[in-house]
Amino acid sequence: MIKKWLEIIFDHKVSLRERMFRLVTGISMVALIFILILGRYTGNLFLLAGSLIYMYIVAKISIQKEAINAGATATVILLLVLFPVVFFTGGGIYGGVPEWFVLCFIYISVTLEGRRKPLFFLLCIAETLICYYIAYHYPELLIPTTTAQAYFDSVRSVILAGVLTSVLLLFQNHLYEVENKLTIQQKKEIEELNQAENHFFSSMSHEIRTPINTIIGLNEMILRGDISDDIAENARNIQGASKMLLTLINDILDLSKIKSGKMEIVNTSYETGELFSEIVNMIWIKAREKGLEFRLQVDPSMPSMLCGDEVRIKQVLVNLLNNAVKYTKEGSVTLSVRCERVGVNRVRVWYSVEDTGLGVKKENIPYIFDAFKRVDEKKNRHIEGTGLGLSIVKQLVELMNGEISVNSVYMNGSTFLVTLEQDIMNEKELGTFTLTSRTKVHEGAQYQRTFEAPDAHLLVVDDNEMNLLVVSKLLSDTKIHIDTASSAAECLKLTQYQHYDCILMDHLMPEMDGIECLHALHAQPGGLCQDVPVIALTANAGSDNQQLYRKEGFSGYLAKPISGALLEAAVLSILPKELVHLSEVASQSEIGKDVLIFEQAKRISLMVTTDSVCDLPESLRKEFGIKICPYYICTEQGRFLDNSELMAEELLSHIAEGNEGNSHPPEVEDYEKFFARRLNEAQNVIHITMAKHVSEGYHNAVEAAKSFENVTVIDSGHLSSSMGLSVLYAAYMAEHHASKDEIIKTVKKLRRYISSAFIIDSTHMMCRAGQISRKIQIMCDALLLHPVIVLRKSRMAVGSMEMGSFNHVIKGYIKKVLLHPGAIDRRILFITYAGMDDKSLQYIQELVRQYCPFERVYLQKASSAIACNCGPGSFGLLFMRKNDALITYSDAGK
Ligand code: ADP
Repeated sequence: MIKKWLEIIFDHKVSLRERMFRLVTGISMVALIFILILGRYTGNLFLLAGSLIYMYIVAKISIQKEAINAGATATVILLLVLFPVVFFTGGGIYGGVPEWFVLCFIYISVTLEGRRKPLFFLLCIAETLICYYIAYHYPELLIPTTTAQAYFDSVRSVILAGVLTSVLLLFQNHLYEVENKLTIQQKKEIEELNQAENHFFSSMSHEIRTPINTIIGLNEMILRGDISDDIAENARNIQGASKMLLTLINDILDLSKIKSGKMEIVNTSYETGELFSEIVNMIWIKAREKGLEFRLQVDPSMPSMLCGDEVRIKQVLVNLLNNAVKYTKEGSVTLSVRCERVGVNRVRVWYSVEDTGLGVKKENIPYIFDAFKRVDEKKNRHIEGTGLGLSIVKQLVELMNGEISVNSVYMNGSTFLVTLEQDIMNEKELGTFTLTSRTKVHEGAQYQRTFEAPDAHLLVVDDNEMNLLVVSKLLSDTKIHIDTASSAAECLKLTQYQHYDCILMDHLMPEMDGIECLHALHAQPGGLCQDVPVIALTANAGSDNQQLYRKEGFSGYLAKPISGALLEAAVLSILPKELVHLSEVASQSEIGKDVLIFEQAKRISLMVTTDSVCDLPESLRKEFGIKICPYYICTEQGRFLDNSELMAEELLSHIAEGNEGNSHPPEVEDYEKFFARRLNEAQNVIHITMAKHVSEGYHNAVEAAKSFENVTVIDSGHLSSSMGLSVLYAAYMAEHHASKDEIIKTVKKLRRYISSAFIIDSTHMMCRAGQISRKIQIMCDALLLHPVIVLRKSRMAVGSMEMGSFNHVIKGYIKKVLLHPGAIDRRILFITYAGMDDKSLQYIQELVRQYCPFERVYLQKASSAIACNCGPGSFGLLFMRKNDALITYSDAGK
């Protein structure tokens, strides 16, 4: 049995937890035998037998039922019961039992899990303390031992406890070493697997590209021919499907590279204007084909040269723009680029891709960056895609230490925002952007011959017969003389006798590859093509190619599958001018024709917005650029916008005549539209709402904000101008370039320091609006009571009641509110009121001056939405109490 026990302990297939449990229980059972022998109480023999049987049964059942924690708990309980018995029968501290208490702690720490571990730890400590306490105060309870016995027991226990603990530690060490070896081995295996996977993907990519090259190339030849509509449609479908397959291969290759950590970000200096032009050239025709407007907005202060991974930035933007075109039926696609200095030599660039398309449902927004995730499949099933694009985009952006976010309203459009920091290589500003590379040929454009060169000689070198055929056919309209060579050796043979104006060279060929062949060409004694430009043809995708081929001495490179238009453009760019007759096709001048280029309208990085119920004076709103989302007022005549369509006085007299008049927060869709508009003006929006338990506004805004990763909604915890105070402070912080997180933190902190107390003349309106019960209203009327409404934890509550005539009440209220002037931040006070005459307002101001003068006092009329809830004759003194949140920005609200 012991042998089997030991075998299991060393068996890697058994879970570590079970092995530890078996070991420690075994050790404890050995320990138990000795503890009980040490006791001098005759009943110990029975205890010994009983405990051993108990432990054995518990261990067996718990292992069988896979309930180790329960088994361990049952064993610990036994130990906790046993120890006091043996402690008192074994002579207390003058015996060998104390050492075994330590073993109990070890048992608990090794076998128990979760909350039970600290609980039993504490129990064990408590039990030890109690045993010692009783033994000290009531020594008569101990069975006495002689000094010789005590020494003997102690030494025996120390040695045994030591040996058993060492066994445990040795086993742990052994386990650690075994596990460590296993981990290292597994890591190696995973790496090997990854390498194999990578190798598989890149060779698969290479192998698949070659036949696709043939399909696409020959299909293009069919399309160029004089064919019936039916055939043309079939050929176009083949074209679409092959391109789709190609995108899939590229995406899978990229994903596998990123996953294995092999995707390297190569930062080089690049011309920003060139980059935008290239992107436009790749996208504009797709937009035009769908009847979409393509707009480009580039910040004129953009440095003309930056240092970054141009290829990956392009990949990210083209991917986002392709999606924008794909998922938009009508309207426009806009690429906006904005920059901001973040250091002497560094710039933060925001690229935003905006469309007026299908948008993404808010519940899908958290998933759109997941690999293989296509959201809203039902609606998008006719749109080709794999669900890989955005996952790659996000990972690429993160590899470049950037950020990506999405703001999207279903059926209204989406905006993807990418932020990247880059070093400035040339301070010169880009100025008003013009497309510089209009001559670049667009891949998707319908083929039109761009030139003829009947006197030019060109050599194509490729080991694949089909590739030779495709290139020759694709160039056939240019009337160039084309020779082909199916190996590097054949190429070198031909170049000894024939001069070529251009050579197209495959990279991967058996025996001598394209790079070796190029070097051999350059050094060929008596060769006629030593200085001839050579273009690499490659079936390997990847940004590294560009650098590799440039470094090796190629004049350019073309990735397979080769499009006819790109091939012609590449050949045209290197053929001697005198051999070329340009066609009159207008394709070149047409490129970019429909692209609308705008100067970038400046977007601020952070905007603070709020609702119309913030009761802030227009002057302050303008000064701090605070945008307002209006509440609604509903009457029998319809729905009106708070303050702009229906003013408070009008509404109050309308209600006084016995008519309806209720306020309603903006609906979720209103907030969505509001946020979408704000995001045209700002990169990020913080929206501050009325106290969340007072109005549904907060919940609607939060629901709407789920569509916008750049919108944050915060509950001010207050209403009216006290809510306005936190808005004002947040806007002030934003103006002083505080970060989003700092502002959010401060606004939350300010909730406690803003004083919101309103005195109500008549409770009728509040009762009507459901804010207080009818009973309270009747009681207030009968006793001439005026409630003071306060806000606590975002809820409205009656803070106190003032009694008597209203003038008397006003005085009492002001005195109470301004009771501790030393604690009040006296820079700004709002006296916000509804339906009060000038005399009363003057009286209030005088009293305020008397009790606690403020630097700035704003007399602010409450908005209609607030007025219809509190009724005429209500007002509040709203201010901040001194607090440490304001220290950094000490001149807030100046
Ligand atoms: P796909 O190949 O399906 O386009 P992506 O990873 O590029 O894969 O996008 C994932 C999903 O996100 C798409 O299936 C689509 O539902 C949604 N999506 C991406 N971009 C947009 C956009 N501009 N407008 C609407 N939905 C989009």
